Amino acid sequence: MNERELIQRIDAMAGLNIDPALLCGIGDDCAVVRKTDELVLLYTMDTLIESVHFDLRWHPPELLGKKAVSVNVSDIAAMGGNPCYLLFSLGLPPDFDDQWALSLSKGVGRACEQYGCLLIGGDTVSSPAGITLTLTVIGEARAEQVLYRNGAQPGDSIYVSGPLGLAAAGLALCKGKMGREEEFKQLYEAHLDPHARVELGKCLARSGLVNSMMDLSDGLATDLAHICERSGLGARIRCEQLPCDPVLEKAAALLGQDSIDWMIGGGEDYELLFTASTSATERLQEVVANAGHVLYPVGRMVREQGIFLLAEDAGKRTATAIDYRGFDHFS
Ligand SMILES: [Mg+2]
Repeated sequence: MNERELIQRIDAMAGLNIDPALLCGIGDDCAVVRKTDELVLLYTMDTLIESVHFDLRWHPPELLGKKAVSVNVSDIAAMGGNPCYLLFSLGLPPDFDDQWALSLSKGVGRACEQYGCLLIGGDTVSSPAGITLTLTVIGEARAEQVLYRNGAQPGDSIYVSGPLGLAAAGLALCKGKMGREEEFKQLYEAHLDPHARVELGKCLARSGLVNSMMDLSDGLATDLAHICERSGLGARIRCEQLPCDPVLEKAAALLGQDSIDWMIGGGEDYELLFTASTSATERLQEVVANAGHVLYPVGRMVREQGIFLLAEDAGKRTATAIDYRGFDHFS
């Protein structure tokens, strides 16, 4: 069974409980529960496991603590919400290092401060092997502004909020035991200390111009497949429009990797992925620019199923299927 199949089975069981206050359960970045007529609560949870999601050889504990918060807060940003409260559970092996655990906790605290989020509880448990971090973030949003994955329309432009593949390149550099070269600082930072796009998420939600949104955690191919599936549509990505930072090309050349693979299949960018009508393009650009952010259009939503990467190669047009080429946690 792969990860998607297991989630579908669990979803079928969860769907048996009908509560009118539950506006969205499994299947989006957050569960959405009505709080008042105007407000909803957003719930998200993420677990990071040693050797699966982080490696102690290169991840400083304080940055790991920050990252654990950021990846959770990113799911709140993906709905256009504001993070409010955090629950933090830490599993430690019997021989854990006090200083390491304190630095990690300091990172969690610093990130909470940065996002205006309050640590309200959690748990510490003993782990037979390896460290685990599980966080729950509770956020809030205006009910009529929440952005889901299922609202994309045929013909919508697809946007991302920043250059892609940087975190994947940073991870590859860490694995390749590179020496933290200054020129690749941006790539290391993208992997070790990502930042959730909360302000942009809220700005997009307020604008009323966006039809669907999520955050990029598993890579463009996998994440866009979620928007397609939930919206009953397909997508066409234009290879030449993918936002590629020059430093990504440099790292790709150094490691003998393909920068396009990182941009499409690389996870953990924590940028926002969203769609909006082409008739809203100018207004959207203006709203986003006024808030000090940049948009990168990368393709179109279409009625035909499947996600294809369109490219021009030596005057020849190619279309490559890229569904779920990103990260499956069980593969
Ligand atoms: Mg997400």
